[in-house]
Amino acid sequence: MKGLFGKRRATVDIAPNVLQRVLDRFPALAAESSSALAETASELLASKTFLSADGFEPDLDDCLAVALLAAQPIVQLGTHWYRGFQTFILYPGEFVADLQEMDEFGLVHEGEEVRAGEAWAHGPVVLAMDEVWASGQGEGYNVVAHELAHQIDQANGDMDGFPPLHRDMDRARWTDVFSQAWQRLNAQLDQGLEPDLDPYAAESPAEFFAVVTELYFDVPDWMAEVHPALHQQLQRFYRPDISPL
Ligand SMILES: [Zn+2]
Repeated sequence: MKGLFGKRRATVDIAPNVLQRVLDRFPALAAESSSALAETASELLASKTFLSADGFEPDLDDCLAVALLAAQPIVQLGTHWYRGFQTFILYPGEFVADLQEMDEFGLVHEGEEVRAGEAWAHGPVVLAMDEVWASGQGEGYNVVAHELAHQIDQANGDMDGFPPLHRDMDRARWTDVFSQAWQRLNAQLDQGLEPDLDPYAAESPAEFFAVVTELYFDVPDWMAEVHPALHQQLQRFYRPDISPL
């Protein structure tokens, strides 16, 4: 907000009972400071546009649910990490996306695909509201963290699984850890073994980053135990305040 208040950031007031009611529906948010989450969510509610589609009429709880889950990845980073997009588009349920994909021979395939969420390049974040409510249950699923990881990834240009790292982070170490985990997943899939990550992560480095972000926030203990090196890099990235130097 510019003008009279100078640098003061715009926020909206969230009634404590409403905040608690929505927080209670997301067990994976319990580990966060509720006041820090609420502050970031309130900035997002004030600064982003919430639109709906398919005749959906989101209520306060719906918008707050999106804002709180969206706040989690940037609660220590700040809302400027989301400056690449302005709008959340909320569908009531899964939506059909028009698809245009170029294959390795340069042929463009058109089609439709049912989606729970979508992050456009430097555009809106599209979410299915029933998938938002199914997120953050501590079961490894979080469509909001997933789509916003794509936005964070793009903060330095391309959606390539390589977000802008903090100055105290080692780019070579990040690349090593992510490349090794990527290769291990692909080898498991090639050999028909049970993969230790959602196979969707093998779609591209960008999807890999989004999937491990989702797991880092939703099942942090599992990530720390099964993928300690990935967990450490994600911790340094998403929680620079508490990572060792
Ligand atoms: Zn994705």
